[in-house]
Amino acid sequence: MNADANDNTPPERPAKEQKNRVCPNCGKPRSERYDPFCSKRCADVDLHRWLKGGYVIPGPSVEQEPGDEEE
Ligand SMILES: [Zn+2]
Repeated sequence: MNADANDNTPPERPAKEQKNRVCPNCGKPRSERYDPFCSKRCADVDLHRWLKGGYVIPGPSVEQEPGDEEE
């Protein structure tokens, strides 16, 4: 009882996703080398933005105080 209909080949990415393979920074086609960016420059820009805190990183900064319940 072995269904060999399916190969072990991984499923291809949807065409929709391939169509959107553009640099998130400037919208140009991505470079495989600097994926997901089009160039090192765009990758650096994104990195700097990240370091500046442009991205919100969820962390345990907000904690609920025990015994302080609101009705
Ligand atoms: Zn770019």
